[in-house]
Amino acid sequence: TVTSFAQNYNELLKETHEKFKGLNGGANADYIPFLANVPSNLFGISIVTADGKVFEAGDTKYEFGIESISKAFVLCKAMMEVGPDSIAHAIGVNATGMPFNSVIAIELEGYSPVSPLVNAGAMATNSMIKGPNKDAQWQIVLNHLSDMAGRPLKVLDELYKSEAATNQHNRAIAMLLDAYGHMWADPIDACDSYTKQCSVGVTAKDLAVMAGVLANGGVNPITKKRILDEKYVPKILAVMSMEGLYQTSGTWLFHVGLPGKSGVGGGVIAVVPGRMAIAAFSPPLDPVGNSVRSMAAINYISEKLNLNLYSSS
Ligand code: GLN
Repeated sequence: TVTSFAQNYNELLKETHEKFKGLNGGANADYIPFLANVPSNLFGISIVTADGKVFEAGDTKYEFGIESISKAFVLCKAMMEVGPDSIAHAIGVNATGMPFNSVIAIELEGYSPVSPLVNAGAMATNSMIKGPNKDAQWQIVLNHLSDMAGRPLKVLDELYKSEAATNQHNRAIAMLLDAYGHMWADPIDACDSYTKQCSVGVTAKDLAVMAGVLANGGVNPITKKRILDEKYVPKILAVMSMEGLYQTSGTWLFHVGLPGKSGVGGGVIAVVPGRMAIAAFSPPLDPVGNSVRSMAAINYISEKLNLNLYSSS
């Protein structure tokens, strides 16, 4: 029955939260000063089913920086504008096997960003989204993210200031890509729009709804608004499988068996096509930049509900 299904999910989330809230290890990102000061004990988990049921446990109302998870969602918008072939050719859809802000990956792999889910590729992706001017372009990106969340999102101003003051490395990457012909807007404007997209505040529940768009064939499971053509959903999920958790994307897939995406704010999402999205948030990160508690929680849920996409049963 519907009741027992709902009860099971609520109980599983409660159990998962209880089980991993004391899991220590990892540390907040500190290369962006704002992120170092987010309380490390925050921990929230949410599931949104493809038909729009919402389940939550823990700190699912707390707004934190979406960071790199925005890369997968902004890619949806760029995919709609330029199509998958342009993404594959101009940016690349492979794994870098290197840190998310690697310059070496660009140099080694034919001077292209390699993946839309590393900083270089995400800035190039952002630059493919056109607007009449810089501010209007940013509004288009923000409106798109809001449509995915099903509510108006906004930039966390203190986070944005903190990122913008310390993003010299990203600006350098943007300039380098421009020199190699892999930027489709002014590189510093693209870097700024990217920095804003990373500074957007979301809750764990928002992330589950946003990822729910990918679980539901491109339609927001709550508002029922179509965000992405259904035929592009597998392309986004393939890119996430390849690079969603950076150098340890393979390790993640090996254990969890689901396309995922992480951000240095402590969020992680996972998508079960046609069924549900899972999102978790907790600030302490492993050395690669993935939230320790969020990964453990999603891994546990994937095992408990037998969600691994590579499993025959
Ligand atoms: N804004 C961050 C950066 O550009 C996002 C990185 C991340 O979440 N991995 O460095």
